[in-house]
Amino acid sequence: MAVDADLDVVIVGAGFSGLYLLKRMRDLGMSTRVLEAADDVGGTWYWNRYPGARCDIPTTDYTLSFDPALETEWTWSEKYATQPEILRYAQFIATKYDLYSGIDFVTRAEQATWDEAAKRWHVRTDRGETITCRNYVMATGCLSLPKVPDIEGHDRFSGEVYFTSRWPHEGVDLTGKRVAVIGTGSSAIQSIPLMAAQADKLTVFQRTPNFSIPAYNGAADQERLAQIAADAAVYRAEAKLSRGGVPGEATLLAARALTDDERRARFEEVWAIGGLEMLGVFNDILVSEEANELLCELIREKIRSIVHDPVTAEALCPKDHPFGTKRPCVDTNYYATFNLPHVRLVDLRTDPITTITETGIETGTEADGETFEFDAIVFATGFDAMTGALVGVDITGRDGHTLKEQWAHGPATYLGLTTVGFPNFFTITGPGSPSVLSNMAVSIEQHVDWVTDAIAHLRDVGGAGAGTDGWATIEPTETAQTAWGVHVNDCANITLYPIANSWYMGANVPGKPRMFLPYVGGVGPYRVICDEVVDKGWLGFRIEATHSSQCNDGVIREIMPDVGMVLEMMATLELPLVESMSPEEAREFMSASSAMRPPGPAVGEIVDGTFPAGDGTPLTYRLYRPATDGPHPVVVYFHGGGWVLGDHESDDPFCRDLCVRSNAIIVSADYRHAPEARFPVAVHDGMAALTWVAEHATDLGGIPGQVAVAGWSAGANIAAVTAHLARDAGGPAISGQLLLTPVTDLSTDSASYIENGEGYVLTASLMHWFTDHYIDPADRTSPLASPLLAADLANLPPATIITCQFDPLRDEGTAYAHALAEAGNEVHHISARGHTHTSLTMVDIIISGVSYREQMGAALRSFFDRASTSAAVGA
Ligand SMILES: Cc1cc2nc3c(=O)[nH]c(=O)nc-3n(C[C@H](O)[C@H](O)[C@H](O)COP(=O)(O)OP(=O)(O)OC[C@H]3O[C@@H](n4cnc5c(N)ncnc54)[C@H](O)[C@@H]3O)c2cc1C
Repeated sequence: MAVDADLDVVIVGAGFSGLYLLKRMRDLGMSTRVLEAADDVGGTWYWNRYPGARCDIPTTDYTLSFDPALETEWTWSEKYATQPEILRYAQFIATKYDLYSGIDFVTRAEQATWDEAAKRWHVRTDRGETITCRNYVMATGCLSLPKVPDIEGHDRFSGEVYFTSRWPHEGVDLTGKRVAVIGTGSSAIQSIPLMAAQADKLTVFQRTPNFSIPAYNGAADQERLAQIAADAAVYRAEAKLSRGGVPGEATLLAARALTDDERRARFEEVWAIGGLEMLGVFNDILVSEEANELLCELIREKIRSIVHDPVTAEALCPKDHPFGTKRPCVDTNYYATFNLPHVRLVDLRTDPITTITETGIETGTEADGETFEFDAIVFATGFDAMTGALVGVDITGRDGHTLKEQWAHGPATYLGLTTVGFPNFFTITGPGSPSVLSNMAVSIEQHVDWVTDAIAHLRDVGGAGAGTDGWATIEPTETAQTAWGVHVNDCANITLYPIANSWYMGANVPGKPRMFLPYVGGVGPYRVICDEVVDKGWLGFRIEATHSSQCNDGVIREIMPDVGMVLEMMATLELPLVESMSPEEAREFMSASSAMRPPGPAVGEIVDGTFPAGDGTPLTYRLYRPATDGPHPVVVYFHGGGWVLGDHESDDPFCRDLCVRSNAIIVSADYRHAPEARFPVAVHDGMAALTWVAEHATDLGGIPGQVAVAGWSAGANIAAVTAHLARDAGGPAISGQLLLTPVTDLSTDSASYIENGEGYVLTASLMHWFTDHYIDPADRTSPLASPLLAADLANLPPATIITCQFDPLRDEGTAYAHALAEAGNEVHHISARGHTHTSLTMVDIIISGVSYREQMGAALRSFFDRASTSAAVGA
């Protein structure tokens, strides 16, 4: 075997990732070797030869697309091709592009060490060679390291032992044998029906039931084939920008919004298609536990209708995780197999395995145990997913730090591609990338293309080939990597994924840190991010060459993912600018937009009424009463809308939400609008509302003396100023003030106006439009317009102030919180990371806003708790 001593690139792994990367590297003239532990290509499809092994993404889509010739030269025989066929496909690719010659088979990478002086990796193999290279790529797969079974006595059995992930190449004949299968994940679910067809007795030991959807395998989908034949490039481009790597429109149907019959009809339709389509049956199943449970029950009904024995059926019904939060399985006759007389399910939740013996398996307790005798045990116990193969190699980066110790508390990567401290080290489909949540053929190609561009860039900026030693090094910055980890978590946390004890969370391997490993933000958005990193001059990377050095430190995504999605959607609507409208038109536009919002939670009662302004003019309010027994404390709420737009019902969903969370009555009070009624009319209307509510608290079902003010944006400005006026007038007493993204200073020149003046719904120009309608320039420094500028900020009610990172008003809200605190008031400042001026009020749209609305509810409750305590002390 010829091994170059000094290569441009070493790749570990000859699955689809390693094969395609080798091709790309060779095309660029890079000297490259691939190290592969197996004796052939194929990776996953080389190792996993158990009966029934096949893909669960339609194979028309589980296809590499880098060469248009592949579309015509290879045809899949089935909708979900079998392992032998996919392995042949990998071999076909390796042969077609002459890749075999670049691969060292039966060669395991054992150690890789970065040599800072030489700017090279030294890679040691189990054959004793050390290969030196500029760039080191782990294309070792997310599901390639089988998990060692964590069962007492697992190595004691003296009969035949098989692992689904290391199935003998010559096949296994189970005819006439008593067979145990341990595990009920995807591999078990695929293989159990086929093993049952051979075995004399089959006993399945199940720790956790998984959801499985029928595959309805057959000929490749004609519709998809026709689309690909019509224009493969368009089809593949759509896949690349899709959420999961397979083209298709996302459904607009929400499980919660449908009637039982409608929901069932849609479910039946998707069940009849089969497979992972079920993940897209409704658009709310991965974000709402309630929606998910509706779907789970429909699937459980199917299981109960297939499996005759009710105890077995119930044991097969998953109840400990929402559907989709563990990878759903796709099967052929899995559940029906349990109707066969020689197949038995042992539920390990009631009868745990105590030990594996020389001849079989013992379960239960000493008093009530059972002993099983077997000829063969099949372990279908899964993988040490996503990180196992990476830390399985002893990789040492800069300053002697190993990947294993650096990732001891969980992997940290930038984009799932690179990691701090490990220059010129790349991972294909690493943790923090969409990987196992996607059609991996698409994700693999995208990663390989990105890594190829990076390596080419290192050669180019280093000046290699231009007579110098050349080659640059690349490494992510701490800032970029940390922020990527935060973004990956933000994405996961708006879904139900983290609820499940899944291998996505590392929960299947004892001692493995629990964190959500893949990037849930979607294949398309992820691709956009990776491209943007490059377009922005390799944002978040330090690139060093002999004669140049660049550190473009920064963060690629800070906005909350759901907020970002709403902004993107709004951008596609190309909505007219509010400031280009007349106030009348703007009001109509706003109420039309409001009509499309989800309604918010149910409250006990909603009552509309009027109260008199200072000059007797009747103004409208809307009262939201909690469903709990009263009387309740009362919050006088002032809506947002820049003193020009909105009314007592315009913040309806938000007011309902506040009502439920605070268990207080919310009185959303109107105030007269500019430009018809300019400053200070609205301020005095605010004071009139507070005074009237305080006087009528009992009539409204409230607790006298327990009245707070709250508001959003311009409404928060009214609330804040009302607190000043009430203090100066000696009442009414205010228990607290809740100010969400308040206007506190009309000078509009803070840094946040510049940073966030465009692109986040409330723009600087819209704010100027509002302000110009509301108030004359000469009055803008009045404390009744800009409470931050008030000479006296002492003796104001306790305040909770919420500011948002991407809000032009952020800095003035922050300044007001500081000023109130300096003046001796109690202040709680909540800074909402990744949010905009409008996002926290978007109830049932922006999930990442929930925790902040919880805090707002808690703030109101604490105002009143304090008020009632001090009243009691006073009494
Ligand atoms: C049973 C099963 C079914 C799957 N079905 C689907 C599906 O339907 N759709 C889908 O998108 N994905 C599926 N996957 C995921 C699948 O792993 C990927 O789609 C894809 O095949 C991964 O390719 P890869 O080249 O990145 O990694 P792998 O195919 O895992 O290849 C990695 C290679 O690296 C080698 N290797 C690892 N460590 C070392 C080392 N230290 N030294 C030398 N060699 C090493 C391994 O031997 C292996 O050959 C499935 C996975 C499994 C296990």
